[in-house]
Amino acid sequence: MRDGPLRCLVKRVARWVQGADLALGRLVLRLEGEPLYRLEGACSGCGSCCEHPTVLLPRVLFRLRSYRSLLVAWHRWVNGLELELADRRSGALVFRCTHFDPATRACDSYASRPTMCRDYPRPLLYQAAPELFPACTHRVVYRHAARLEQALEDQDLPPEQLAELRRRLGLD
Ligand code: SF4
Ligand code: SF4
Repeated sequence: MRDGPLRCLVKRVARWVQGADLALGRLVLRLEGEPLYRLEGACSGCGSCCEHPTVLLPRVLFRLRSYRSLLVAWHRWVNGLELELADRRSGALVFRCTHFDPATRACDSYASRPTMCRDYPRPLLYQAAPELFPACTHRVVYRHAARLEQALEDQDLPPEQLAELRRRLGLD
């Protein structure tokens, strides 16, 4: 259901807070070194990342039931996300978005979408082996690609294995 004025206002305030929090967190990560990958390309609005929006929690936070419940309630009542799955092993909370229309692949409240939607797929840049959705028109590019290409060539790997490694490392 499309966001009304009150929900838009609440989401806007939340975006300011979350934006500041995200910027601070990224600054701390930068101080420890640049992420291994950089992002290229632009979003074509394919909607793949809207099918099952996912929040990954650190294990210690996932175990705090009250924190988890609050987060789920926030996403339900403010962001229109309904919990589908809580995976203890990976710390993932997987949602269904009530703003997403699977037929048109469109968001009915795009202007007020939450920070996690605006930020995707940047969190992947901090993972060891980022995997984009097949239809995503972004690209993650390994920063030290030339050095890695040389190292892979030196390994004399079978072509299929080399192709899979190159794909997963964003070298193509
Ligand atoms: S999967 Fe990628 S291209 Fe598709 S909507 Fe999400 S960010 Fe945009
Ligand atoms: S709020 Fe909009 S952009 Fe975010 S997951 Fe839902 S449909 Fe996608």
